[in-house]
Order: sequence, then structure tokens, then C-alpha cells
Amino acid sequence: MNFAPTEEQLMVRDMVKKFAETKIKPIAAELDRTHRHPEEICRQLGEMGIMGVAVPTEYGGAGMDNVTYVMAVIEISKACASCGVIVSVNNTLYGHPVKTYGTEEQKHKFLAPVAGGKVEGCYALTESSAGSDAASLKCRAELKGDRYIVNGSKAFITNGNVARYCVLAATTDASLGYKGIINLIVDMKNTPGFHVGKLEEKMGILASGTAELVFEDAEVPAANLLGKPGQGFKQMMAGLDSGRIGIGAQACGIGRAALEDAIAYAKERVQFGKPISTFQAIQFKMADMATELDAAELMLLKAAWLEDHGYDFEKEAAMAKYYASDVAMKAAIEGVQIFGGYGYIKEYPAERHMRDAKICQIYEGTNEIQRMVVARKLLGTR
Ligand SMILES: Cc1cc2nc3c(=O)[nH]c(=O)nc-3n(C[C@H](O)[C@H](O)[C@H](O)COP(=O)(O)OP(=O)(O)OC[C@H]3O[C@@H](n4cnc5c(N)ncnc54)[C@H](O)[C@@H]3O)c2cc1C
Repeated sequence: MNFAPTEEQLMVRDMVKKFAETKIKPIAAELDRTHRHPEEICRQLGEMGIMGVAVPTEYGGAGMDNVTYVMAVIEISKACASCGVIVSVNNTLYGHPVKTYGTEEQKHKFLAPVAGGKVEGCYALTESSAGSDAASLKCRAELKGDRYIVNGSKAFITNGNVARYCVLAATTDASLGYKGIINLIVDMKNTPGFHVGKLEEKMGILASGTAELVFEDAEVPAANLLGKPGQGFKQMMAGLDSGRIGIGAQACGIGRAALEDAIAYAKERVQFGKPISTFQAIQFKMADMATELDAAELMLLKAAWLEDHGYDFEKEAAMAKYYASDVAMKAAIEGVQIFGGYGYIKEYPAERHMRDAKICQIYEGTNEIQRMVVARKLLGTR
């Protein structure tokens, strides 16, 4: 077994780490405070190939692998969790289905600009009454001639307020259940009957927009269908498996930031005449944070490696996502504790890490749903 990254993987990781530390981290607090979409960061990451790491170069990506993608998302999220999720959604939630199921024409038209980081993509699955039970979605797509007429609305869509393109999950016939689901690519700047609805106010990842998408007799060309009717649910599940690795990496990055900030603070903060880092109670917290985050990172890299090498990685992606986000949440809470009262004050980053970490246990399938995925695999049930 070889744990050594390739030269190329190391090179990209170091490049992203340097960029994240010098360009993203210094503005992370401002992005959190102002809720500003980090447009300039997205464009620069695009130029570096990070908006489509595992997308082939002919479709605008970097032509690298998912292991490199995990490394990149960890480094970016360590600096800013909002930037981390924007990158993750572009790469996987949007990028994966278009890369995997798109026609040549669709990939050149709809994947290349997103993977190349010129515009953002998003994936619209969740509805106000269909979250974990995604197959119960109601957004309707009716084929009329050469167009689908779409009616319904989508809730909580990351990048929804800024994206140019969206992969939309809709049903051609709700009575067919999951078999009626299709995925359509929607040009969000050029679709009659579509508009962005309300922008959510939320707890964390504040520089990442979370928007409602509204379709009222929206006209989407039938040529924008991904794959064939009846395949949408399977496409969606495969995309989420891949996406979960990205969210696990986002969580891992947040946890690492919480740990690094706590170590730096503990070395400086003096109580009882000594730096608090000399107290065993503080040291044990750090040891647990580091151990659990290392384990999470290994699980993420393993899941990404399995994906890269064509193995089934559904269980490993679910395990890695829920483990990484659980230990990141724990690390972020301990980080606040190590900062003491200052951990609760906005002047320091500890409280931001805690607010940012929480969402990783919820989106792209809650951690309860991840445990169900793992249990189903263990039991051989569907
Ligand atoms: C900031 C943010 C960004 C998001 N981005 C996107 C996006 O880009 N695209 C998108 O499509 N969606 C997005 N979502 C939606 C997100 O994926 C859902 O919120 C999530 O899947 C959970 O769905 P829900 O909120 O409806 O919760 P529910 O499904 O109502 O779950 C509520 C609780 O019940 C539990 N539960 C549900 N079913 C079961 C079960 N069978 N067994 C045990 N427990 C169960 C859940 O684990 C949870 O604890 C985003 C959400 C947020 C908050």
C-alpha cells in the first residue's frame, strides 16, 4: 500500500494551499460578515483548474483525479468554508452528472464554462416538502414538442443566486415515483418562466448563497435532458456519492482550521502563569482533534481513490462524509472551548468554524441518511 501522493497531486495541493493562505484566508472574515459571493476567488480558482479538478481538459477541467480534488477542497475550506462548498458544488453536484451523462455537445456547451471557472453551476434537487425523501419531489417537467415545460420550485440551492447553469431534478410523472425523475440542464440566465426566488439567511457558510429557484411554465429545450427518461434518480444518487466526498473534504478543512487556530491561540494565551497549551486537558483535546481529522482525511482519500479507479465507492463516500463532518463539528466545538470566552466573540475565527461545520452534517444527505446508506450496504438491502 502506497500512501505517498504523486508529484502532480502534491504540486496541485501546494499551489492551492498557498493560494488559500494568501488570497482566501485574509478575506474569510469579511466574506462571512458581508455575505459577499467571492466572485474574484472563483475566477482565479477557475484559472488554476480547481473548478473542475477531475473534469477532462477538453471540457474545461484540469484533467486530474478525485484524490487531488479532495486535497484541494480541504485546503480551500481550511481558509474559507463558503469557498469550499462553492468549489465542491461546481466540481461534483453540477460537474459530475454533466460529465458522466452529458452528450459531447452538452459537455462542450454546459460543462466547459463551469469546469473552467468562468461561471458557477448548481444542482437543484431539494424542495420544501422533499428533502431526505428526494424521490418524492414534485417539480413537474412535461414534454411538449421540443421543450419541457417546468413548473415547481426548489429550496436551499447552493450557488442558486449566482449560477449560470443548473442541473434540475424534476418528474415527468409523480405517480411513477423515482422512475419518473429526470435531470435537465437549465440556463438560468436565459430561460423564460424561470427566476431566482428568496435568498435564505442562515447560520454559517455565509458567503455561499442559498436560494429558492422558481419555475413557472419555464421552457427548457428537450435537448438539455441528461441521459434518458427514467435514469434521473440513478444519476442523482451517483452524483451525490461523488458530492459527499467533497462535503467530507469541506468538513475536514473546517476541522483542520479549528485545530490550527486553537494550537496557535493555546501557545499564546497565558493563565496561571503558563501558556494554556501546557495544560494536559487542552493537549488531550488537541490530540483527539488531530487523530480524528487524520482518520477522516484517510477515509476521504480512500473513497476518492476508489472512485478514481472505477470501484464501487458508495459506502465509503457515505462513511467518510458522516465521519468527517461529525469529527469536524466536534473539533470546531472544542476549538471554541480552547479559546474560552474569546471563542464566542466574532473577533476570532473559532465561532465561525463552529457555525460553518454544522451544515456538513446536514447537506448532500444528512448524517442519518448516510448511516442508512452504510447499513443498507452492510445488510445487502436496498
Ligand atoms: C445551506 C444549505 C445548502 C444546501 N444546498 C443544496 C443544494 O445545493 N441542492 C439541493 O438540492 N439541496 C441543498 N440543500 C438541501 C439539503 O440537502 C437538505 O436540507 C437535506 O438533504 C435534508 O433535507 P431536509 O432539510 O428536508 O430535512 P428532512 O429530510 O426533513 O430531515 C429532517 C430530520 O429528519 C431526519 N430524517 C429524515 N428521514 C429520515 C429517515 N428515514 N430515518 C432517520 N432520520 C430521518 C433527517 O436526518 C433530519 O435530521 C441545502 C441545504 C442547506 C441548509
